[in-house]
Amino acid sequence: MNTDVLVIGAGPVGLHTAKCLAECGYEVRLLEKKPEAAKQVCCTGIISTECASKYGFDGKYIQNYFSEASVYSPGGQKLLLKRDTPQAIMLDRASFLAKLLQQAINCGVRTSFGFQANSIEYIENGLRITTKEGQSFTAKAVVLAAGYNTALSRATGLGEINNFAYGLQAEVDTSIPSNLSLFTGKAISQGYFGWLSSINDCTAKMGLLTRKNPFECWSALHNTLYKQGLITAKHINYVCRPVPIGNLSASFGDRVLAVGDFAGQLKPTTGGGIYFGLLCADLAVSCLDKNIKTNKLSKANLAEYEKNWKSLIGSELYIGRLLSRAYTGIDDRLLEQIFKKCATSGMIEKMAAKSHLRFDWHGKAFGHLLKNPFDLVRS
Ligand SMILES: Cc1cc2nc3c(=O)[nH]c(=O)nc-3n(C[C@H](O)[C@H](O)[C@H](O)COP(=O)(O)OP(=O)(O)OC[C@H]3O[C@@H](n4cnc5c(N)ncnc54)[C@H](O)[C@@H]3O)c2cc1C
Repeated sequence: MNTDVLVIGAGPVGLHTAKCLAECGYEVRLLEKKPEAAKQVCCTGIISTECASKYGFDGKYIQNYFSEASVYSPGGQKLLLKRDTPQAIMLDRASFLAKLLQQAINCGVRTSFGFQANSIEYIENGLRITTKEGQSFTAKAVVLAAGYNTALSRATGLGEINNFAYGLQAEVDTSIPSNLSLFTGKAISQGYFGWLSSINDCTAKMGLLTRKNPFECWSALHNTLYKQGLITAKHINYVCRPVPIGNLSASFGDRVLAVGDFAGQLKPTTGGGIYFGLLCADLAVSCLDKNIKTNKLSKANLAEYEKNWKSLIGSELYIGRLLSRAYTGIDDRLLEQIFKKCATSGMIEKMAAKSHLRFDWHGKAFGHLLKNPFDLVRS
């Protein structure tokens, strides 16, 4: 075999997986279709302070800290979600990836940039991965961390996630620093929201996630921000990429594990995938570490990975999807009423005071509402 483990995809989840496996003492090769580490990434890079402290993310790649967010209704009502300490940080995704890549290389990971994995075949005691460029690599096991990728998931026999949302983003000049602002309403997003998050006093990341009509939604968000004087440009070039909704039918096969967006391990309410992807990558690493040593890499041996990640984030994904579906069904009139109730009932302040309600764990926040329904209706 060329190597013990081949990791496909140099996004945050693939880089973290490769580094951790190398730290365990395995020979690891990282395959990435782009010719070099990503310089422009369509991702806002907002993660919780919980995620940052768990993984020790603290460096020059941090662009901002957020202790509050302003959420706007379609008609312009504002709710302020606020805590005394920062709840989230924003990463410069390109320099963050460069840092993760350097750490992986320092741990001994070998990299092959400019190679797009196309097909996987089983050989004796391993797998052969062939790239579009005609190169082949062999390994005892493969980790699929190639983002949302139906072609590769079909080629590996893991099925495919056939539902996705559109994520759009641009870096924009701003006239008023907005910290973190979220914009709701059917014109701006079907099922999610738009956002403006300040990098500094004069630039911000503008973006949105939507199930449908991405280009119309972008125009609506642009108009809203332009009319409010938050942004100055009349035309903005943006990048767009799909974000998976749902999971693969199986995130494991003989000698194969799937992690991150490839497996659909992201928060259904916001499309945020960095933290959940990293948590699942840790479980993939410990499963491989245990099984490579004994060369027990059959589907049955690797099944524990899926059991473990589902027990960690499965209920969050389930409840998050229910919430996301329910939110998609709410029309703008009802949304205005909900904003009004939230503003007058003191519910937002009460929830902000509950320390167990955290940035990433929306299922827990919903559980709190179910246990305390009067918090929602009393006003
Ligand atoms: C507009 C937008 C904003 C977002 N904002 C946030 C946010 O604020 N916070 C958050 O947590 N998440 C956010 N996300 C989601 C986040 O970007 C993803 O969840 C995260 O990047 C997933 O990491 P990953 O490593 O699994 O996949 P990716 O980051 O998609 O990386 C996959 C890598 O695999 C490579 N690749 C693909 N196919 C192949 C192949 N066949 N062979 C070799 N290489 C291949 C790709 O080039 C890429 O480098 C956002 C997404 C979008 C679209």
